[in-house]
Amino acid sequence: MADYIVNGRLIDGTGAAAAPLAWLKIEEGRIVEVATGAAKLPDGSNVLLDAAGMTVMPGLIDAHCHLSYGDARSIEEQDLYASAEYRALRSAWHAGKVLRAGVTSVSDPGGSWNIGVAVRDAIKAGMYEGPRIATAGRYLTTSTGLADYFPSWVGGVPSGVGALTHNCEDMLTEVRRQVKNGVDFIKVAASGESPMMTPGGGSVPAFTRGELAVIADETHRLGRRVAAHARSGVAVIDCIDAGIDWIMHGDYMTPQQCDRLAESAIPLCPTLTFLANTADWGLLAGCSPARVERVKRNYETALETLRHAHKAGVKFMCGTDSGFAITPFGEWHAREMEIFVEQIGMSPLEAISCATKNASFAVDSANVGTLQAGKWADVLVVDGNPLDDIRILQRKTSIHAVFQGGERVDLAPKKPAQKWAWERAMSISGHELPYEAVYPPVPAP
Ligand SMILES: [Zn+2]
Repeated sequence: MADYIVNGRLIDGTGAAAAPLAWLKIEEGRIVEVATGAAKLPDGSNVLLDAAGMTVMPGLIDAHCHLSYGDARSIEEQDLYASAEYRALRSAWHAGKVLRAGVTSVSDPGGSWNIGVAVRDAIKAGMYEGPRIATAGRYLTTSTGLADYFPSWVGGVPSGVGALTHNCEDMLTEVRRQVKNGVDFIKVAASGESPMMTPGGGSVPAFTRGELAVIADETHRLGRRVAAHARSGVAVIDCIDAGIDWIMHGDYMTPQQCDRLAESAIPLCPTLTFLANTADWGLLAGCSPARVERVKRNYETALETLRHAHKAGVKFMCGTDSGFAITPFGEWHAREMEIFVEQIGMSPLEAISCATKNASFAVDSANVGTLQAGKWADVLVVDGNPLDDIRILQRKTSIHAVFQGGERVDLAPKKPAQKWAWERAMSISGHELPYEAVYPPVPAP
């Protein structure tokens, strides 16, 4: 028997203008019909929700969400201190928060161990609530790439989110191993931004164009796709030439490099939320003032670059880098849309398409991203109109209902879980304790 969501304002995610919804007809978890305008339901129809006065739209998609990161406050927390077992359980817990925020699918571009795959499969198996997941494994990186976080005398760590590769043979082996272990796509750290290399901010390429092509060709030969973290414009161009499927960040491109990306039609996930949260509210989260200042400059440059990229016609996907303490799970997944509207100059409708149809490219565009016949009935129902105020999508109080495969998600918040001191680091103190902090100087007698 079919189920129906009726009435309300339909935003179908395709970019089409909002229209009055008659009904979404759902069978076996999938949308089988979308009717707009005035229409009369057949007698005896099972109505899941009457959305009169509300907005009915696709469940949001976060194209950049690191489920295994554990809301990390530091790279050591992200890469070292919790066990693989604890990380996997913690990730399943966090996945529920993401879903309850109205995010019905995520793309996880890399994390520690093989946790993304395990969480994806446990959710799919029905053990835990969470979004649909397309996931990478550990990022392929080099000594100048993101995710090779520790000094060269330490080297790559087995629990780290990066797999350090030094030559094409290492790269091929890592791609094959990850595909064997079930990843949906390969993640490459095509650039690096460690403060040792770029003290004032900036980005350096991590692979040669030839190495990127070796990775992309082998990944494609095995029937998977490959996504790249690329902030340096040179790295972006090398990714385009090597056949990388989509790119994250791109914030140090020149206008000419933006134009090349637009011509290539390769989608870009700018992931400005991470920068914006640090620039705007980093001090509230305990970031150092120096870091906040550096990120502020970086954010300004990024906005300038990405405004040009948008004008040039680059296709944007919404992603947030959720998984850090500055971007905790379930909190900021819809902020990217606000940034696209306020800072990049998009209409709210266009921004919504970036978080639905466009972002579905990084997950499974055949089955999610729009409210159209044949897709999963992954539906977000919000009180109010996000076309008037895009920020309502960030407010939990505005989220009226979430459906995943036609099943209504329980939105009741769970009791918060505690964080253990050992998750963070083997930290001894927050700052120095000089003698005079305890015993102020006394005048000499
Ligand atoms: Zn990321």
